[in-house]
Amino acid sequence: MTAKLIQGYEVVIGFETHAQLSTVSKIFSRAPTAFGAEANTQACAVDLALPGTLPVMNKGAVQRAIEFGLAVNATIAPVSIFARKNYFYPDLPKGYQISQFEIPVVQGGCVEFFLGEEKKSVRLVRAHLEEDAGKSLHEDFVGQSGIDLNRAGTPLLEIVTEPDMRSSEEAVAYAKELHKIVTWIGICDGNMQEGSFRCDANVSVRKPGEPLGTRREIKNLNSFKFMQQAMDYEIRWQIGEIEDGRSIQQATVLFDPDTGETRAMRTKEDAADYRYFPDPDLPPLVVASEWVDQVRADMAELPRVMAARLVADYGLPEYDATTLTQSKTMAAYFEAAAKASGQAKLASNWVMGEVSRRLNAGDIDISASPVTASHLAQLVGRIADNTISNNAAKQVFDALWIGEGTDVDAVIDAKGLRQMNDTGALQTIIDQVIAANPDNVAQFKAGKDKAFNALVGQAMKASKGKGNPTQITELLRSRLSS
Ligand code: ADP
Ligand code: MG
Repeated sequence: MTAKLIQGYEVVIGFETHAQLSTVSKIFSRAPTAFGAEANTQACAVDLALPGTLPVMNKGAVQRAIEFGLAVNATIAPVSIFARKNYFYPDLPKGYQISQFEIPVVQGGCVEFFLGEEKKSVRLVRAHLEEDAGKSLHEDFVGQSGIDLNRAGTPLLEIVTEPDMRSSEEAVAYAKELHKIVTWIGICDGNMQEGSFRCDANVSVRKPGEPLGTRREIKNLNSFKFMQQAMDYEIRWQIGEIEDGRSIQQATVLFDPDTGETRAMRTKEDAADYRYFPDPDLPPLVVASEWVDQVRADMAELPRVMAARLVADYGLPEYDATTLTQSKTMAAYFEAAAKASGQAKLASNWVMGEVSRRLNAGDIDISASPVTASHLAQLVGRIADNTISNNAAKQVFDALWIGEGTDVDAVIDAKGLRQMNDTGALQTIIDQVIAANPDNVAQFKAGKDKAFNALVGQAMKASKGKGNPTQITELLRSRLSS
């Protein structure tokens, strides 16, 4: 496969994602992590870095890191180390962030997904545990800023990729897949507006075959739409700079959704600037292999495992299986409809087609779909047994969607959508059509296929659209050739 080029440049992207772990309390203290509390009501002495306090590791955060590692086929380090990342910022009372540096708990792994119909695999470097900082509040104050330390000490898993992605579209697809994984396994609520899942996009460009270009890092992208816009702007900007004879300086940039532009915030620090060193307050994190085995045994079926099962058990194409396992709720909906109807491929077509289209248009989660999985099972069952045509099924679907009925068969009858499968009745119609259209019959016998289609059309019309088109075609053909 040849890489997609933009003005002769190849795009290179690597992602760092902060997933907020869904623990009830913080990573090194007992303070709650719930979002939206009044400022500074959820920060305890540890989070405030009062002298004499010590961090205590939250086992639930480690467990979630292990779950993530298993979900992406990574190695779980038997021993990993917490380090102090030193920097000064008002929302960081300790003057350092506890993170993992040289030896993270999750190492390697990869994320697989489809970009359109093309299968992609992005390698992960690592995923490490760390604490979040507090928040500076500028909006509510004139001439001053406030500090809210509720978020200080919230557990984060930072997930870092290799620079494997080659377009903004691929990077967004990666981010969506990662989001799917962390929410599917339940280690993160995935709420992007509340900052539970934030991505930093490292972007560079180069001429094909050249070494990696200098990257700029777009910070804190918290919507897939902004992610795409920010990377596209950044790519065009970098190419423009190089084409104008300037070189790219490594920098951290912010995306402004109002202008659609990225803007340099600071020149990028090097790891050396942070004076990382092992945190003497925390012993090495030891994860016994028995614990990893236990976590593996307790984990629900993973999306890619379920996708493989949908292919094996229901004969679905891989593309369908991957699309249907976008979320746990969608997968469950599909499987319920497929099981109840015995029509897996039809059910899959409908879930990926009409159901998804209507859900997206209304911004509704499939778990709240007015057309339930059992409705859909009934509906595809009626298509499969020739009671209704595919077109009629759309009308039934619409009626169920707007609550015009709750039972598929009742809606079919109320709307008179039952397909005519009665050979005798269809034969009568066909004989009438043949008698009424001698010209078309003659043309067909002279070898004109179009004339045949016209006769099928007439017969469909005479049946008020309810004739089974396959049956009509067969009956007409045999009548005309006898
Ligand atoms: P740092 O330690 O400065 O954060 P890393 O080497 O950890 O830098 O890389 C951070 C992220 O940047 C990773 O996701 C990596 O894949 C990505 N990256 C590194 N070099 C490039 C590059 N030249 N272009 C795009 N992304 C890159
Ligand atoms: Mg980094």
